[in-house]
Amino acid sequence: MATIEFRSVSKSYGTFEAVSDLNLSCAEGEMLALLGPSGCGKSTTLKMAAGIESISDGEIYFGDRPVSRLSPGKRNIAMVFEDYGLYPHLSIRENIAFPLRARGTHDAAGQKRIGEVLALLGLEAQAENPVRGMSGGAMQRVAIGRALVRDPNMILFDEPLSHLDADQKIQLRTEIKRLQKLRGITSILVTHDQTEAIAMADRIAVMNHGVLQQVGQPQDLYERPVNLFVARFIGEPPMNLLPVREHTGDAVNGAGWQVGLGGRALPAGASSLIMGIRPEHISLAPATPGVGTAEISYREPRGDVDVLTMRFHAEAGDGDILVAEIPGPSGFRAGDCVRPLIPTGSVLIFDAESGLNLEDAA
Ligand code: ATP
Repeated sequence: MATIEFRSVSKSYGTFEAVSDLNLSCAEGEMLALLGPSGCGKSTTLKMAAGIESISDGEIYFGDRPVSRLSPGKRNIAMVFEDYGLYPHLSIRENIAFPLRARGTHDAAGQKRIGEVLALLGLEAQAENPVRGMSGGAMQRVAIGRALVRDPNMILFDEPLSHLDADQKIQLRTEIKRLQKLRGITSILVTHDQTEAIAMADRIAVMNHGVLQQVGQPQDLYERPVNLFVARFIGEPPMNLLPVREHTGDAVNGAGWQVGLGGRALPAGASSLIMGIRPEHISLAPATPGVGTAEISYREPRGDVDVLTMRFHAEAGDGDILVAEIPGPSGFRAGDCVRPLIPTGSVLIFDAESGLNLEDAA
């Protein structure tokens, strides 16, 4: 096993920079997720680690060994792709054995290893069945077995669950996590799905337009997003981000609402601000006359929670829209008037222009 580190790595296609000055490391035995919207550079980053793409600048290290000039075959990396990449006419055993056959290590030790992997995956009884006709989830498990059998330095997962239905996704992400931890395999997971990243990864690196935005444990990204991009990208329903109209002493207010800052000082010169609050941190009290009441426009029941969309009553013009997630079924209906309670301690303040969370700058 090894660590992997990107030191000031960039990748350009002509004049277009797909990955810019990336500094990122994945510790031994860690699963690091690369998360971001389509085109943010996550697959390019993975391909550079695998050696399928060259780098334009910087260096990639496995442990203390620079590998950027090594061919893919010399890096001892296994990859798991979204489309499984299996040979349909071969059996489960033959597919798992394939990398050993290709490397000429299909001897007794190799057979033993194949047996171990089949046992690890619980596939011994079906080992001689052809993979053709198997479900997507089952095929991906075989593909993972094929990755494990080589005893790689690390495994790179490229959207491994994207073709699976919801049930299989949940099963397989638990299975991948179990195997990854059991074997302590350094792993990078590329995904655009935050639920997948949160469920599977030890840490998440969020990318946008080829630039690393933030890296940290899922809870860090959720509680302390460094900027508006991460705040919007992590969390479902997404964080409420309301424009601040006025910053008066110890409070900020907008169209129909006001929240206290609890003694937090905002940096001098901060002009246009955004107030952020997660829907699940909001509670609802009965409406009372005055500032801060809202009318519910839509209720989305989600079983154990209700997601309520409401509009604040403003003195002039339209009030801001707020989304609250409260325990359900709540009994609220469209047209009900409520007083949203926004706890000061959960409020984040961002600079609208730079997008930065001002918490650290205060
Ligand atoms: P997706 O999930 O859609 O693949 P991604 O985050 O993995 O998104 P990349 O595939 O890494 O994104 O692509 C990053 C950017 O680089 C995109 O704008 C893409 O169009 C561009 N790109 C990728 N490969 C090439 C290439 N071979 N030539 C030119 N541009 C490329």
